[in-house]
Amino acid sequence: MNEIVFKITFVVLWLIYTLIRVPFDKGYKVSERIKKLNLPSEKFLILLLFFGLMLMPFIWAFTPFIDRFNLNFPIWLRLLGIAFSGISLPYFWWIHKTLGENWSPSLEIRKGHELIKTGPYKSIRHPMYLQILIWTIGQVLISSNLFVSLFGMIAWTLLYLIRVPKEEKMMIETFGEEYIDYIKQTGKIFPKLSNKE
Ligand code: SAH
Repeated sequence: MNEIVFKITFVVLWLIYTLIRVPFDKGYKVSERIKKLNLPSEKFLILLLFFGLMLMPFIWAFTPFIDRFNLNFPIWLRLLGIAFSGISLPYFWWIHKTLGENWSPSLEIRKGHELIKTGPYKSIRHPMYLQILIWTIGQVLISSNLFVSLFGMIAWTLLYLIRVPKEEKMMIETFGEEYIDYIKQTGKIFPKLSNKE
């Protein structure tokens, strides 16, 4: 009984997540693209995110195939997962709203690209990857499933380790000193504790 409630809750949260993204997904295609990093790693990461944050949790939510890999988390922990994923949704909206047309699902620079340093970007450079981490932890706790947890965490870890250095290199090439200064003032996914170099 509990299991089905958690499965339905996860799907509802996922639908809200998707609804938040739809207008921004349309919006970013409006401005012209002037640079796109067509790296094999980008295709791999998008496939991995699809696998770890969509296919696996959907197999868990809609089929009984991986039910036997249940990690038996207590209900309070699974409820905490709902809180994590739920809280990450308004944060996700705020990030998208702030980044506007500068957002893209893969690494791109668009015509008139602005370097955003306000709102969620004020003290950290990668709030969207932080949001994906909070969402993934939520997914781990809600599902209480070994497969969903493993694939979700692997997908996030590789996204973070592979993409961030390439993204920051691209941003330095585009914005030069301005991005280097921004790096000095901010942390990647947690604010910098001190501003000393
Ligand atoms: N790493 C950021 C953005 C992810 S979306 C985050 O986690 O919030 C990826 C795209 O965002 C990249 O193609 C890059 O062009 C753009 N981008 C990343 N940081 C940006 C910033 N501070 N201002 C404007 N665009 C940014």
